[in-house]
Amino acid sequence: MVAIGVPAESQDEPRIGLTPETVKKLVKAGASVTLRSGAGLRSHFSDDDYKAAGATIAASDQDAVADADIVLTVRRPSADLAGKMKKGASVIGMLDPFSDAEGLDALAKSGVALFAMELMPRISRAQSMDVLSSQSNLAGYKAVVDAAATFERALPMMMTAAGTVPAARVFVMGVGVAGLQAIATARRLGAIVSATDVRPATKEQVASLGAKFIAVEDEEFKQAQTAAGYAKPMSAEYQKKQAELVANHIKNQDLVITTALIPGRPAPKLISREMVASMKPGAVIMDLAAERGGNCELTVPGQIVDVGGVRIVGKLNLAGEVPVNASSLYAKNLLTFLELMIDKKEKALKINWDDEIIKGTLVAKDGAIVHPSLAPKAA
Ligand code: NAD
Repeated sequence: MVAIGVPAESQDEPRIGLTPETVKKLVKAGASVTLRSGAGLRSHFSDDDYKAAGATIAASDQDAVADADIVLTVRRPSADLAGKMKKGASVIGMLDPFSDAEGLDALAKSGVALFAMELMPRISRAQSMDVLSSQSNLAGYKAVVDAAATFERALPMMMTAAGTVPAARVFVMGVGVAGLQAIATARRLGAIVSATDVRPATKEQVASLGAKFIAVEDEEFKQAQTAAGYAKPMSAEYQKKQAELVANHIKNQDLVITTALIPGRPAPKLISREMVASMKPGAVIMDLAAERGGNCELTVPGQIVDVGGVRIVGKLNLAGEVPVNASSLYAKNLLTFLELMIDKKEKALKINWDDEIIKGTLVAKDGAIVHPSLAPKAA
């Protein structure tokens, strides 16, 4: 029997990595599931819902994880809680592997195996385990809905007897999963949408959603996508050309949604102080890259700032503001990942440490950081 434990998340994290639906499937696969009482409440899953699905409810986080072979979390658990887990237990969550290296090291030293879902390889077999996709998609949607609610004008063009309301202009910077959903959402709301990215593959995707593509399409642009599907950091020369293009475009925009990221690095700065100053009062910038420092020079992570009438929103957990959907999708991602680790016939834990997906996500094992992109390089 594989024992799965789920502690409660911290006050600022409304999501949870387990739903009554995934409990049922895990129990069927031969697992026992223990959940900290109230842990699903902010996603509207009650203890009774979990119990009905076959889970046991624990009174404390420690009770939820003490006997677990696998602990499911949304965010990094504390080293203190990891210390209460069985030696050799595995923690699976969005462990934010590229920040707070010391904290990660302390967690590794507790002896638990750490799996960071953000490091999921982008191969087709792992698509249903891709938490960046499932969460960014919702964040892209929520960014537009929030920006529209903050904006003091309407988005669609309206022709009325009293005059015409012009359509708002929305500019999406970074057309990955979040950006594509932002474009689609803004289009549904009737805005005139444009978008930019450095990866050539995005050009067609933007056009297919009915938005206008704007980018510096030089030789460097043609090579900007890595084999893993992510963007490369761009040269200073490219950044200069890109800044000129953006400066000309952004001054006429009403809502700007920025989502540009490069894995393992601070977010590229795409909107300067001068660009913000050129924008119309009432314009809104939603900076989804705030957690990585922001795509706008003036973003304050976690805050909304007003600079000359332009509001810059640096919310840190937009997916967490749609917790019911975000938890459901995240729990499904975890379930598919777990199914790789459980031998259904023997109803036992069987981790194939050589599997590309296991190797790709494994951050720490037996007290040490082991992921090649995180482990200290040999001298
Ligand atoms: P991301 O969150 O890492 O970055 C968001 C976007 O920002 C990307 O499109 C990136 O190109 C862009 N960007 C980076 N630097 C920029 C700059 N200087 N200026 C403008 N834009 C910049 O990306 P993501 O959302 O994780 O998606 C990356 C790609 O991976 C997408 O094509 C997506 O469809 C693909 N993907 C594949 C799989 C799979 O095969 N399993 C799963 C999910 C996503």
